[in-house]
Amino acid sequence: MTDKDKDKFLAMVSARAEVELRLSDFDPRTMMVTRQHIIEKAKFPAVDFHNHLDGMDPGDLLPIMDRCGIEHLINITMRTGDEGISMIDKFQGHPSNRFSAIGWMDWSDLPVPGFFDRAVERLERMVDCGAIGLKIWKDLGISLRDDHGALLCIDDERLCPLFAKAGEIGVPVMFHIADPDAFFLPIDRFNERYEELAAHPEWSFHDSIFSKDDLLAQRDNVFARHPETTFVAAHIAEKPENLAYVGDLLDRNPNLMIDIGARVAELGRQPFTARDFFIRYADRILFGTDLVPEEEMYQLHFRFLETSDEYFDYPSHASRQGRWKIYGIDLPDDVLSKVYRENAMRFIIR
Ligand SMILES: [Zn+2]
Repeated sequence: MTDKDKDKFLAMVSARAEVELRLSDFDPRTMMVTRQHIIEKAKFPAVDFHNHLDGMDPGDLLPIMDRCGIEHLINITMRTGDEGISMIDKFQGHPSNRFSAIGWMDWSDLPVPGFFDRAVERLERMVDCGAIGLKIWKDLGISLRDDHGALLCIDDERLCPLFAKAGEIGVPVMFHIADPDAFFLPIDRFNERYEELAAHPEWSFHDSIFSKDDLLAQRDNVFARHPETTFVAAHIAEKPENLAYVGDLLDRNPNLMIDIGARVAELGRQPFTARDFFIRYADRILFGTDLVPEEEMYQLHFRFLETSDEYFDYPSHASRQGRWKIYGIDLPDDVLSKVYRENAMRFIIR
């Protein structure tokens, strides 16, 4: 290379490096050459314990389920009242016997006196109609207000009869009462979910009255207060960022199960810790996705659970989460069969 060529080359390189690139345009392609296993079917018949299928026809889902090895799907209906009952019937009552339904907590008349008694009656009605559980969502603790206008705490004692009734009739109560830790922090350059929150600022709980720690503490009080009731803490008990916390919670509460819905991205970035966690708590973990049932989505879950593939993209439907990739955790067969199927079967009525 002549001196003139060299000068030209350096000028070109520095001009390029000065171009400013917007973070949202940065889309690096990995140069890693790694093994890629496509797992088309779960190694054991699987139960997807966490999904929302109200708008779908169960019959249309069967071919996807067959191809992916999904034996059973659970629809957590998001409708309430008579509409909720008809959703329970649509899935639980489907002749294939491959669907179950979990009912959604109806808070619509919370400010009307007598609500807490009605909540118990509604649970009984949903279970009579076939529901195998009750889902409580994050509006509790964040926005729901009682007849005096006060924010209703998750561990408000007026809810005790409801949780006790669930234990009495033998259905689990599923809680989803918080979101990732980053959603409770300011949307700034330090936030690891910045891109997602910048696109959806309404997902931020930074301004909520209770901190995430407060919300989890209230929820954990409920688990401890009702040892006769089984609870399912969805999304790795909302704390996949800290599996030591979740392990401690499971140790303290034998009545608690967790699901892995929509949290593969978190688990897969800590493969050594996650693998140990799955092995230790193999009896307490439910497979669930919380994502639209599609082959690619299921295959990515199977790849995460069953292989030791490295540095691959996680299932993300809505938007990019953090800027990281995941690793498989290569679970042993006995753990896989419990997580995929056996743990869920104790809740399913056929
Ligand atoms: Zn969900």
